[in-house]
Amino acid sequence: MSTVDYLIKNVSLPDGIKTDLAICDGLITSISKNFKGEAQTIIEAQDCVVLPGLVDLHTHLREPGREDAETVLSGSRAGAKGGFTAVSAMANTSPVADTAGVVEQVYRLGQEAGLLDVFPIGAVTQGLKGESLSEMGAMADSVARVRIFSDDGNCVSDPLVMRRALEYIKKFGGVIAQHAQDPRMTMGSQMNEGEVSARLGLKGWPAVAEESIIARDVLLADHVKSRLHICHLTTAGGVEIIRWAKARGIDVTAEVTPHHLLLTDDLATSYDPVFKVNPPLRTESDVHALREALADGTIDIVATDHAPHPTEAKECEWQEAAFGMLGLETALSIVQKTMIDTGLMNWSQVADRMSIAPARIGGYSEHGQPLVVGGIANLVVVNPKKTWTVDRDLVLSRSSNTPYHGHELPGVITHTFFKGRASVLNGSIMPLGSL
Ligand SMILES: [Zn+2]
Repeated sequence: MSTVDYLIKNVSLPDGIKTDLAICDGLITSISKNFKGEAQTIIEAQDCVVLPGLVDLHTHLREPGREDAETVLSGSRAGAKGGFTAVSAMANTSPVADTAGVVEQVYRLGQEAGLLDVFPIGAVTQGLKGESLSEMGAMADSVARVRIFSDDGNCVSDPLVMRRALEYIKKFGGVIAQHAQDPRMTMGSQMNEGEVSARLGLKGWPAVAEESIIARDVLLADHVKSRLHICHLTTAGGVEIIRWAKARGIDVTAEVTPHHLLLTDDLATSYDPVFKVNPPLRTESDVHALREALADGTIDIVATDHAPHPTEAKECEWQEAAFGMLGLETALSIVQKTMIDTGLMNWSQVADRMSIAPARIGGYSEHGQPLVVGGIANLVVVNPKKTWTVDRDLVLSRSSNTPYHGHELPGVITHTFFKGRASVLNGSIMPLGSL
């Protein structure tokens, strides 16, 4: 009888059914209580849930150009630790990922790191300037096979440029991921516009600056019959627009970050720039609306907007600090805390919002597949009954700007499997060279 590489025993599938799951030569080879063969490594997973490997459509890996904040390798390690088997690398690097050359470089760095698939996102406009379209066709045809295009960090604010981009990507089945932020209404903004910003005397960032772009772009996507994805939705009003657009049959998808499912703008009263993020933390009622929308499917996916920054960019005055926070290593725990432990979603829905749906939007066919015999073994095993305490000095990211330092979070990731090999084994990242 043949010997499999791994046997995960007594694990719960997303639907709650307990089974044993065998992995061999990169594939799931058995999902059955009656597996009789031998295994090189047996994993006792009594209290654990196995999900398809997580897929993050919104990661800032910072390479090329800001390797002091993150590299493709350090970001891959952080992603694997967080249960991810694929991440989409945002285009706002230096140089910008607006040519086939840059996206191929990022793609190859991901392959070399070998801990997960890195799928580069291409810029919509040259240099993220919002004026002329980038070489989208060349990026789509490159070895990186780019399908998602985004100027994230910047909004594609010119409606004519946005229309042309939406038209252009139809040729190869692409999608435009919009960072919805009216630049005129948010110039110099520091945090959510509301009661807290008024009290602190910080320039506010109105919800309507996000919602007006979402409304415009769902109408544009409808007009040219193309695919639109809205990055990091943060407001209750934005949720209503997406709900309306979907009811009309408009081809739009939307994401929410873990931090917008949990944190609120009153954290700015600490003046701790770790809570400074773009788009900003909003109010309790926005958080409530985002959770409801993720549960009912109006919001399709969770995406981290993992945004590493070096210490000097964050440990300064609020006004001077960079926008952004880490997300990869804590994403699943925050989703468990806000959506599972509150009874709003079950693990099958988490598998959908964090793996199946993002893989479908990105066209990543080897990810986000239902767990079946013969399927590629991209998997994460999590113990929802255990907790862990976040320590910014122990994160695998090269940066340490996590808003959860010192917080006890539910859900310990015990194993991540990338193409049948453990990238995380018993909670530890596997050293380089072992894959
Ligand atoms: Zn963004």
